Amino acid sequence: MARKQIAAANWKMNLTLSEAEALATALASGVSSLTDNQQVLLAVPFPYLLPVQQLVEKNNIQVAAQNMAAKPGGAYTGEVSAAMLKSMNIQQVLIGHSERRECFNEDNQTLAQKIDLALANTLQPVFCCGEPLPVREAGVQNEFVNSQLEEGLFHLSEQQITNVIIAYEPIWAIGTGRTATSEQAQEMHAHIRAEVAKKYSLEVANDVSILYGGSVKASNAEEIFANADVDGGLVGGASLNAEEFIAIIKALKK
Ligand code: PEP
Repeated sequence: MARKQIAAANWKMNLTLSEAEALATALASGVSSLTDNQQVLLAVPFPYLLPVQQLVEKNNIQVAAQNMAAKPGGAYTGEVSAAMLKSMNIQQVLIGHSERRECFNEDNQTLAQKIDLALANTLQPVFCCGEPLPVREAGVQNEFVNSQLEEGLFHLSEQQITNVIIAYEPIWAIGTGRTATSEQAQEMHAHIRAEVAKKYSLEVANDVSILYGGSVKASNAEEIFANADVDGGLVGGASLNAEEFIAIIKALKK
């Protein structure tokens, strides 16, 4: 089977519980007829995982966590472990979103620990990578992303990496309204896939879903997703509006 085409929402730290439930209800009624190859994920704040899951699970929509602890458990006040998420029947977790890297100083080593813990608890990580603007302007974005992959992900075995989703999110395009061009997205996605092929195998590289994130909206999703190496998107702002996100889901390749 071809690799999955995925529309993943990242609600970040937005919405009250009643707003979250209203959005989930609208998505549940608006999302239908996904193919076997398509997947919809909603990465919601921790306290909303179960209420949102109850509203969308019958509609083929999966609820994901936005983060998890780098420790297995114990005296870490305020943290949420991979095992806790698994016990709530959560299947996916974002790891290394640029806001976690930037605002909470999560480095590649910490992220590698999180990836290991996620996989040990049979959670599927969505590993986020992407360069800041000065790196893009200096033309060394491939090298920058390579080091994120090398240090955060490429310690995994071939068997383990097949359970990972990669999200390429250029930081200069996140929440800025400035999207990477279709060519820039395709170029980086092809590069990431080639790196996976070099490290593992062509087969593994062909099977890994690589999502694009950075100001995806209904009006640009189809053009971005149409690229051969773009397997859907990780969507922040536009995922808070049901109509917009449903249109983005409809733009997924079949
Ligand atoms: C994100 O949060 O991962 C993201 C890509 O945000 P936005 O779509 O708002 O740029």
